[in-house]
Amino acid sequence: MVDSSWFDAACRRIPGGVNSPVRAFGAVGGTPVFMQRGEGAYLYDVEGRSYIDYVGAWGPMIVGHAHPSVLEKIKNTVAQGICFGTPHPLETEMAEKLCQLVPSLEKVRLVNSGTEAAMSAIRLARGVTARDRIIKFAGCYHGHADALLVQAGSGALTHGVPSSPGVPASTVEHTEIAQYNNAEEVRAIFSDRGDQIAAIIVEPIAGNMGCVLPEPGFLEALRDCCDRYGSLLIFDEVMTGFRVGPGGAQQRFGITPDLTVLGKIIGGGLPVGAFGGRAELMEQLAPLGPVYQAGTLSGNPVTMAAGLATLDLIGQDGFYEALGDCAARLVQGLREQADAHDVSFEAVEATGMFGIFFTSGGPVRCYADVQACRAEDYRLFFHHLLKQGIYLAPSSYEAGFLSSAHTQEEIDRTVEAAGTAFDAVRHENQ
Ligand SMILES: *Cc1c(COP(=O)(O)O)cnc(C)c1O
Repeated sequence: MVDSSWFDAACRRIPGGVNSPVRAFGAVGGTPVFMQRGEGAYLYDVEGRSYIDYVGAWGPMIVGHAHPSVLEKIKNTVAQGICFGTPHPLETEMAEKLCQLVPSLEKVRLVNSGTEAAMSAIRLARGVTARDRIIKFAGCYHGHADALLVQAGSGALTHGVPSSPGVPASTVEHTEIAQYNNAEEVRAIFSDRGDQIAAIIVEPIAGNMGCVLPEPGFLEALRDCCDRYGSLLIFDEVMTGFRVGPGGAQQRFGITPDLTVLGKIIGGGLPVGAFGGRAELMEQLAPLGPVYQAGTLSGNPVTMAAGLATLDLIGQDGFYEALGDCAARLVQGLREQADAHDVSFEAVEATGMFGIFFTSGGPVRCYADVQACRAEDYRLFFHHLLKQGIYLAPSSYEAGFLSSAHTQEEIDRTVEAAGTAFDAVRHENQ
């Protein structure tokens, strides 16, 4: 059993005992595990138990924990001072690298979180188009800025409603919600009021409702609507950037967004975000242009060091092939175990990420499909794996993450353990 005294102590001083709600075990029950140390594909808890880690700090740890070359670059950088509040060479190096790797980037601004990057990209889009309305998709997450904390309202409303107390209705009245993979709905919004829409923001592979792939034609339709009505297409690649391929989802699908939001991997595990796009758009930002955006710790040298070391590693030959092979092996193995134990189940992968769904009704295409999955089965599955030293996200609404430190050995052990977990799910359902 997990010693709950660590969590009890945290709960006395930190709301819910966590500094980000996804870390709590609210969706699966039980007590969050306190981790002490990470190495490669493994996390070690405060009592020394080891876990194969499929959370990867929610995305950044694509080269595994405590990678020696990342640690070394951090140490060398930190020894020269932590933060200057002036321009410095590592941030230019990072910007150069991002623009080389991500097809749509000509200029980029570095910030401290994905939330901040998405919020700033929206402000820029509104500033350059002189329009207020934005479209986002149910189940896509773009951080917790007010304008993006929105859920679908009742059918009669054209705009969303706040998904949290504290967000004024007036802040989200310009945010419209559409269903992922529903191009028709987006076309209908545009034909009614396309001239009011500043931007569409979308996760080009959704990774915050499990892992949901865009259907052929969906992203193309978004691009087309934006082109026809002078709106901007924003790809939020905080999760998919450098995870589904070296140039993100935009390279994978060959679609060029106007603005791209990045985070996670580019900080190598330290706090980071970035947004960028065509030079002409990015030059509308202060100090060149009128759209204000700023940050005391933005482009921090230590963060840049961790990120650059990580980006160097993913540039090695065969990096994504190996990652993709691991993902395919895992997903295939899980499907076979589910079949063998007669559990209806779907698994999808996108190179460095995967989604597992206890669904009974065909492919998962949008948020409503994810909501229809059997949360209770996921809860059982999660705890059975946790007991066997395998750490999945403590919620069925999260994607799973692989790293280059995961090998066939970890995958095969996971698939074997999943057999007993599926067995438990089947028994519970009988
Ligand atoms: C994690 C995430 C964010 C928010 O990033 P933070 O650094 O947690 O603020 C935004 N968009 C997507 C797609 C994400 O996965």
